[in-house]
Amino acid sequence: MTSGKSLGLKQKFINHCRKKSVWVLPFNSGGCNGCAIELLTCVSPRSDVERFGILVKGSPRHADVLVVDGPVTTKLKDRLLRIYQQMPEPKAVVALGSCPASKGIFDGCYDVAGPLDKIIPVDVWVPGCPPRPEAIIHGIIKAMGKIGGLER
Ligand code: SF4
Repeated sequence: MTSGKSLGLKQKFINHCRKKSVWVLPFNSGGCNGCAIELLTCVSPRSDVERFGILVKGSPRHADVLVVDGPVTTKLKDRLLRIYQQMPEPKAVVALGSCPASKGIFDGCYDVAGPLDKIIPVDVWVPGCPPRPEAIIHGIIKAMGKIGGLER
């Protein structure tokens, strides 16, 4: 039988491994695609985020960090929530750009359900419209620290 103490050590070890190798799931919640394009440049050989242990994956069940851009439209709100719930713990959410923070240029539109933190908890805010790739990478690295139980 496993004791509570060894379970804690096991979880610590898993979290240590996780913080050095996070799988990132991008989610465009209805923005202009500017942030999504900047995020794509991060996974190009020029930025080479794999040197930090960051890998982009398309499955919420295998993802550690959810990266959301856009103001969250009413059509995508329930899908976003379901995807967030499908992700295993520990997990972190990174909000890209001004849209998830304040609805940005979409503020006042009839079909916007955001800001993002009304729908799911947000761990890291990355400002900009759109944010630069360096800022996006920095935001994901901060989220890695949260997953490993460390602030960076
Ligand atoms: S923050 Fe700016 S670039 Fe990003 S989705 Fe919104 S409008 Fe587009």
